[in-house]
Amino acid sequence: MAWDFETDPEFQTKLDWVDAFVSDKVEPLDLVWPGLEFVPLEGARRRAVEPLKEEVRRQGLWATHLGPELGGQGYGQLKLSLLNEILGRSSWAPIVFGCQAPDTGNAEIIAHYGTPQQKERYLRPLLDGEIFSCYSMTEPHAGADPTLFTTRAVKDGEEWVINGWKFFSSNAKTASFLIVMAVTNPDVHPYQGMSMFLVPAATPGIEIVRNVGLGAESSHQGSHALIHYEDVRVPADALLGGEGQAFVIAQTRLGGGRIHHAMRTIGMARSALDMMCERALSRRTQGSLLADKQFVQGYIADSYAQLVQFRLFVLYTAWSIDKYHDYKKVRKDIAAVKVLMPGVLHDIVWRAMQVHGALGVSNEMPFSRMMLAASVLGLADGPTEVHKVTVARQVLRQYEPSDDLWPTGHLPRRRREALAKYEQYLEHEVGNL
Ligand SMILES: Cc1cc2nc3c(=O)[nH]c(=O)nc-3n(C[C@H](O)[C@H](O)[C@H](O)COP(=O)(O)OP(=O)(O)OC[C@H]3O[C@@H](n4cnc5c(N)ncnc54)[C@H](O)[C@@H]3O)c2cc1C
Repeated sequence: MAWDFETDPEFQTKLDWVDAFVSDKVEPLDLVWPGLEFVPLEGARRRAVEPLKEEVRRQGLWATHLGPELGGQGYGQLKLSLLNEILGRSSWAPIVFGCQAPDTGNAEIIAHYGTPQQKERYLRPLLDGEIFSCYSMTEPHAGADPTLFTTRAVKDGEEWVINGWKFFSSNAKTASFLIVMAVTNPDVHPYQGMSMFLVPAATPGIEIVRNVGLGAESSHQGSHALIHYEDVRVPADALLGGEGQAFVIAQTRLGGGRIHHAMRTIGMARSALDMMCERALSRRTQGSLLADKQFVQGYIADSYAQLVQFRLFVLYTAWSIDKYHDYKKVRKDIAAVKVLMPGVLHDIVWRAMQVHGALGVSNEMPFSRMMLAASVLGLADGPTEVHKVTVARQVLRQYEPSDDLWPTGHLPRRRREALAKYEQYLEHEVGNL
C-alpha cells in the first residue's frame, strides 16, 4: 500500500527553513527592488542578494531542479513542487534559489542537448546565477502554432545566417544569450525542418525593436522583446542538438517549465487565500464580520477546495514525472494542470480582491498583479485552448468506438448481456424480471 500524503520529516525541516527564510529575507526584496529580478546584480543589490544566495547554497537548496552532475541536488519534481509552492509567493525567491524561469528550462535543454563546449560557455555561468538567458521562439504573426514560424537560418560555409522577427522574447534585454528557433529546411515538415541556435546577445544584427510591457507597465519596464534578427551570423557549432531537432527540444523544455509554473502558482493562490481569510476575520459590515456572511464563506470554501484539488493534481503529476522520467508519458496530466492553472489562480484572486472592497482593486494590494499573472498563465507556454486539445486527444486514445448501433452503456444491451451471463440461475425467475 504505497499511497502516502506526508512529507518526510527531514525534508519538512528544510521546507520550514525555506518558509521562514522567504518570509523574513526574500519577500522584502519584492518591495525594495520590484521588477529588477532579471537585471544582473550590481552595487547595493549585489551586496544584499549574494549573501542570501550563499545561505541557500549552504542549505543545499541551490538549483534543486538539476541533478548533482550539474551542481543541483537532484531532488526530483515532487520535492521541487513542495519547495516551489513556497517560492511562488515572491518574485525574487526563484532568483535567490537559482531556479527562475525561463533560465531553468533553458538550462535543462542545454544540459540535455548541448556539447561539452556549449555547456562550459553557457550552462556553467547560468547555473551559477551569473547570467540570464532568453528563449526566442514566438513570432509576431504566430505563437500557438509553431509550424507557422518563418525566421530562417541558412548555412553559409561554416556559419549560419539568421533572419527574421521574434516577439515576446522575455528578458532579452538583460540576457547574455538567446536560444533562437529558426527554419533550417523549408522543404520538409516543420517538425523536422526547424532548429535551435545558441546566439550570444552581443552578436551583430540583433536589434531589440522594443520591450513590450504587461498590463499597465510603462514601456521602460517592459521585458518582452520584439526582436529583428538581420543577417545574424553564428558559427556552425551554435546549433543546439541536431539540425531539425527544434520541436523535440521545445517539448523537453516546455514540459518541465509548465509544471514548475503550476508549482509556483499554488504559492501565489495560497497567499491570496490567506489575505482573503485575514480580511474576512478583520472587517465588519452590517452587524457582523465578513467571515460570518454566507457569500464570503462560499468564497472561502470554494477557494480552499479549488486550491487543495489543484495542489494534489500538481503533486501527483510531479510524482508521475519522477516515476517515469519521461515527459511524454505524463503529457496528458501536465497539459491538464496547465489548463486548470489560470482558472484556479484567477478565481481565488478575484474573490480575495472582492472581499477587500475598494482596497482590493487599488495599487496598495497585490491583487491586480496576481490577476494579470492568471491571464499570463493562460498564454505563456501555449494557450489554454491548445492544451485542452492535447488533454482531449490523450484521453480519447484510451477509448474505442462502439462496435454496435447502440453505445456499450445502453441499458437494454447491458441487461441482455447480464441475463445471458446468469442464465443458468434465472430459469425459474425469468417471469419475474
Ligand atoms: C508573459 C509572457 C511571456 C512569454 N515569454 C515568451 C518567451 O520568453 N519566449 C517566447 O518565444 N514566447 C513567449 N511568450 C509567448 C507565448 O508562448 C505565446 O503568447 C503563446 O504561445 C500564444 O501565442 P500568441 O500570443 O501568438 O497567440 P495566438 O497564437 O495568436 O493565439 C491567440 C488565441 O487564439 C486561440 N487559439 C490559438 N490556437 C488555438 C487552437 N488550436 N484552438 C483553439 N483556440 C486557439 C487562443 O485563445 C489563443 O490565446 C510569452 C507570453 C507571455 C504572455
